[in-house]
Amino acid sequence: MITRYVFIIGATSGIGYGIAQILASEGHHIAYNGLADFEEIIAISDKLKDLGAASVHYFDVDIRNGDAVREMMATAELTMGPIDVLINNAGIQHVAPIEKFPISRWDDVIAVNLTANFHTIASVIDGMRIRGFGRIINISSVHGLVASANKSAYVSAKHGVVGLTKTIALECATDGITVNAICPGWVRTPLVEAQIHERSEASGRSFEEEASTLIQERQPNQTFVTPEQIGSLCLYLMSEAAVSVTGMAMPIDGAWTAH
Ligand code: NAD
Repeated sequence: MITRYVFIIGATSGIGYGIAQILASEGHHIAYNGLADFEEIIAISDKLKDLGAASVHYFDVDIRNGDAVREMMATAELTMGPIDVLINNAGIQHVAPIEKFPISRWDDVIAVNLTANFHTIASVIDGMRIRGFGRIINISSVHGLVASANKSAYVSAKHGVVGLTKTIALECATDGITVNAICPGWVRTPLVEAQIHERSEASGRSFEEEASTLIQERQPNQTFVTPEQIGSLCLYLMSEAAVSVTGMAMPIDGAWTAH
C-alpha cells in the first residue's frame, strides 16, 4: 500500500488508538489529537513509532472550539504533510432522558461528535481535490442508524454524521475522494465502560455481569467489536480496491442493526 498522511481525531484512547496502531503498523504518517496528559501522549507517540509509523505528530486541541480545529488542521498540513486520509473518531456520550438532559452536555455532544467533523472536513477538502485523492472516514455508530432511549444528543449527532457523510460524498464524487461512515456496535472502551459502571451502580450487580447483559441485550453475536477490527476496516477504505465505496454507512455490529 502507498504510504499516506493520516490525521486521526480522538486517538488517545479506545477505537481511535486502535485505528492508529493498525495504521502505524502499515508505515503510514500519523497525526493525531485527543485529550490526555503529557505522559500518556509520550507513551502513545512512542508506541506508534515503535509499530512503524513513518512519522508521528500530536495536536493538543479541544475540538469543541471550531476555530482551533481549523487552525490545527492547517498546522498539521504544514508540519506533517498534505492530509490524504482524515479519520473523524472523537466522541463523547451523555445518558439522560430529554427532560433532564443538561443543555451544556447537549452542546458538548453535538460539538464533539458532529460539528468538529464539519470543521475538519471543510479544512482538508480543497487540498484533497487539488491532489485528486482523499479518504474521509467518519466513525459514527449503530446509533447513526437506529436509536436507544436516553441518548438523544448522541443519536442525533451520530445520525447527523451519516447525513454529513452522504452529503460530502456527493460533493466529492468526481474528485477522487471517498467519504464513508463506520457504524460500530458495542466496543469495550472507556466510553462504554463508563456506561457499564453507571448500570452496575444502579443495579448493584458486578461490572462483568453488567458488561455481559449489555452485549446480550443488543448485539446478536454476543461479542464486543474490537478497535483493531475497525482499524482494519479503515485500511480497506483507504485502499485502491475501495475506490467505488463512498457515501456508505457501514455497520460493524454483530448484527445489531439486522433486528
Ligand atoms: P473513548 O472515550 O475511548 O475515545 C474518545 C476519543 O475522543 C479520545 O481520544 C478523547 O480524548 C477524544 N475526545 C473526546 N472529547 C474531546 C474533545 N473535546 N477534544 C478532543 N478530543 C476529544 O471512546 P471510544 O469508545 O473509543 O469512541 C470513539 C468513537 O467511536 C466515538 O465517536 C464514539 O461515539 C464511537 N463509537 C463507540 C462505540 C463503542 O462501543 N465504544 C460504538 C459506536 C461508536
